[in-house]
Amino acid sequence: MRVFNFSAGPAALPEEVLRQAADEMLDWHGSGMSVMEMSHRGREFMSIHEEALLDLRELLKVPASHRILFLQGGGLGENAIVPMNMLGSHTTADFVVTGSWSQKTLKEAAKYCTPHMAATGETAAGFTRSPARAEWHLSDNPAYVHLCTNETIHGVETFEIPDLGDIPLVADVSSHVLSRPLDVAKFGVLYGGAQKNIGMAGMTIVIVREDLLDRALPICPSAFEWRTVAENNSMYNTPPTYAIYIAGLVFKWLKRQGGLEAIEARNLEKAKLLYETIDTSDFYINKVERAARSRMNVPFFLADESRNEDFLAGAKARGLMQLKGHKSVGGMRASIYNAVPLEGVKALVEYMKEFEQSRA
Ligand SMILES: *Cc1c(COP(=O)(O)O)cnc(C)c1O
Repeated sequence: MRVFNFSAGPAALPEEVLRQAADEMLDWHGSGMSVMEMSHRGREFMSIHEEALLDLRELLKVPASHRILFLQGGGLGENAIVPMNMLGSHTTADFVVTGSWSQKTLKEAAKYCTPHMAATGETAAGFTRSPARAEWHLSDNPAYVHLCTNETIHGVETFEIPDLGDIPLVADVSSHVLSRPLDVAKFGVLYGGAQKNIGMAGMTIVIVREDLLDRALPICPSAFEWRTVAENNSMYNTPPTYAIYIAGLVFKWLKRQGGLEAIEARNLEKAKLLYETIDTSDFYINKVERAARSRMNVPFFLADESRNEDFLAGAKARGLMQLKGHKSVGGMRASIYNAVPLEGVKALVEYMKEFEQSRA
């Protein structure tokens, strides 16, 4: 029996995708091999790779000005890879800090430059908001401005993407990419690990504007130098082949769902149901400003925290898994990525209501 998995990552995958991968495990399309066993330069894998690139470009409407790279190293790896590729002759970069992940990004950048915190969403209640452009105080000559558009731990999502003119905007989209349409042209760079909303761990997506490919520092490892990776079509070294294959299956699944507009409508319905359940009760609390509430990661607290273990045990007994909040925040967190069905969220809110009534 499959459970409803609310993990923040690695996270739920569409069952159809897992079944297809299982069917094709031993013999991919008559090749007599598993995708895992194929040469990354062979005709079969090249076709898998090309199709994944094309489908991602189509889904996200990535303009011709931007290259799509499939790398390794994860979101945290990019915290070093981005400055090494983007600083050029600059000595600083600017950071909008909206939660733990962007905090980490700023800290790592300090190894390569003097980072400047342009704005923070931290309040007395923790990270609860995404400061608007009018509140950003940019430095004189930053190499780029960094933003994490969905803070996975604090559940803070940024919906307004400002135009910064000549300054490239770099965004960590790890935990909400493909959850809704995004205007890629507004960004210099988008990056994210695949294990939240794309596929499996081991693959990192970087979408970078062509004119930003020539700013790498000499210390940047060649395997992570975006120009080198782009010129070799993400095959400078062996790419994460199986993870690319799984991502490709997820892209096809998303297209069958009707693309990003259709998946956004479903994600909105899921998020609305869960936030309404929290808001209409004194038993559950979410502290994030309404305008910045994440549609993908919903942290919440029980007003009486002595009931946490009880809540989690009851959830588990119903097959509602991985609801424990991140250790730095506590409480609960339901990650409701694309692959978590509406029925999963319905089962969760039904349980939340029953748990509240039984303890009233
Ligand atoms: C999960 C996550 C990361 C870290 O990704 P790794 O693949 O573990 O390096 C970075 N940023 C965000 C927003 C995330 O959700």
